[in-house]
Amino acid sequence: MAKILIIEDEAELVKVLRSYLEKAGFDVITALRGDSGLELWKREKPDLVILDLNLPGIDGLDIAREIRKTSITPILMLTARVEEADQLVGLEMGADDYITKPFSPRLVVARVRALLRRIAISQSSEVLHVQDIEIDLTAHRVTRHGDQLDFTPTEFNLLVAMANQPGRVFTRLQLLESTQGIAYEGYERTIDAHIKNIRAKLETDPKKPQYIETVFGVGYRFVKD
Ligand code: CA
Repeated sequence: MAKILIIEDEAELVKVLRSYLEKAGFDVITALRGDSGLELWKREKPDLVILDLNLPGIDGLDIAREIRKTSITPILMLTARVEEADQLVGLEMGADDYITKPFSPRLVVARVRALLRRIAISQSSEVLHVQDIEIDLTAHRVTRHGDQLDFTPTEFNLLVAMANQPGRVFTRLQLLESTQGIAYEGYERTIDAHIKNIRAKLETDPKKPQYIETVFGVGYRFVKD
């Protein structure tokens, strides 16, 4: 049974979400404050976090950042306004999905299921298929229509990080982290050089990329098919 942590300060909303999620077969734990929520996350290691953006104690963005330092646990953000959601996508603070209030609890259950399914697939599968590219994670091999494309280990790791979550925007710092394990601020621009090399091997026309898209002011994303 998957364990879901809800961090949300509206007690009534927590009650409703808990009841729907429990009926759907999930184990639910809850916190009404950011600080106690983060404590609970560290102690309980839930399979997914439903996280409100505006919270007393520590706000949702800081919690997401803290979780992302050590974990890929899916985070479903709850936001009060559409503008907040836009901002979230722009900044890409580590949320995997978001829902704008008011929402139907059924929608939350559906999104939770989808996020958990996505994680299960990416953890069990050793071959990633994205657009017309095949990435063999064990053999470290990339092919397109049977033709092998050669990447350096760093390029390969970058490609996998992005292709694993097509459509998600990654900041340069996050990509740096995925290649080195640690992100050093000030070295983000080295990512641009790697991306340029990847595009030269991957794209038909590197000036009009169909796989790796630049998101101005933020970073890069692998285009969904
Ligand atoms: Ca709130």
